[in-house]
Amino acid sequence: MNKTFNIQNLIRENVKGLSPYSSARDEYVSDGSEMVFLDANENPFENGVNRYPDPQQRGLKSVLAEQKGIVAENILLGNGSDEVLDLLFRTFCEPKIDNIISLPPTYGMYKVLSGINTVENREVLLTDDFQPDVEAIFNTVDEHSKLLFLCSPNNPTGNVFSEEIMVDLLSKFNGLVVVDEAYIDFADSESWVSRLSEFPNLVITQTLSKAYGMAGIRLGICIASKEIIAAINKIKPPYNVNELTQQKALKRVLDLDSVKSEISNILNERERLLKVLREVLFVEKIYASDANFVLAKVDDANKRYNQLLVEGVVVRNRTTQPLCENTLRFTVGTPSENKKLIEVLNKLT
Ligand SMILES: *Cc1c(COP(=O)(O)O)cnc(C)c1O
Repeated sequence: MNKTFNIQNLIRENVKGLSPYSSARDEYVSDGSEMVFLDANENPFENGVNRYPDPQQRGLKSVLAEQKGIVAENILLGNGSDEVLDLLFRTFCEPKIDNIISLPPTYGMYKVLSGINTVENREVLLTDDFQPDVEAIFNTVDEHSKLLFLCSPNNPTGNVFSEEIMVDLLSKFNGLVVVDEAYIDFADSESWVSRLSEFPNLVITQTLSKAYGMAGIRLGICIASKEIIAAINKIKPPYNVNELTQQKALKRVLDLDSVKSEISNILNERERLLKVLREVLFVEKIYASDANFVLAKVDDANKRYNQLLVEGVVVRNRTTQPLCENTLRFTVGTPSENKKLIEVLNKLT
């Protein structure tokens, strides 16, 4: 990246001119003292959720910031990381003019969001060993390339991208590099959060949906420089993270021991599943995984997928994805769910 990196040059013109919507809860921030709240047209009768939630989720952010070694101003929370990704498009990508770079086979939402936002999605296939193809990426980039999505560990392949390659991309790409770390808690390697100060164009997304076991509450995390977070905050809907989600999420992140023990259980099960899959006759290749799923190449993915369905096991058929012909993606379940999967796999002919 050129030394004159300036985030202001990446923000859409109309967004630059906006100031964030100022809600009642922004204009008067409670300091904990007994006040009578007659400012937001809420129903005054207590039921636990009669008040608007904190638009800046201060309680949750302060815990997350401490755990991740950053400050609250480096964090933006969303209704799942899918909302965070959409906010990135809408803050930085001018419809019909700008483009994004995504690296299939990868998470499908980058493409979906580019369609929704009328922003061109330039796809650059991963290499055969599922790493970003740096040369091909830079042959595809132009001055309108605003976002480069690096999903690491990647879904559906399960691998982390090489650190050297990512540093190369971060240092040379003039837009924002969005590292999607939905599966980072299952990986051997560290989060890129610790490198935030090195790369002004680094944006990291994380989620409570996978390792934290809270897909149902929808809580996504965006981590970046204060300037980037401030820009996204200009367009964030004020109450995008509801009260129940904030409460549940706070409880969960304060109980890291439970989260860690579930992760270690899932990792043990992943190793067990890998071993068993190697013995299954119709499995032709198993890809190493740094996530809570395993991608495997089988003889005939459509046939095996349907056989598994008949036996009551739903897996993800990834055969139509580039480089993923005849692959199935197996999420690691509980020990008893995995036992069932293994029994079924072993009896299929
Ligand atoms: C599951 C997944 C997400 C979705 O996160 P939510 O917070 O549930 O919206 C994001 N990125 C990747 C790569 C995923 O696999």
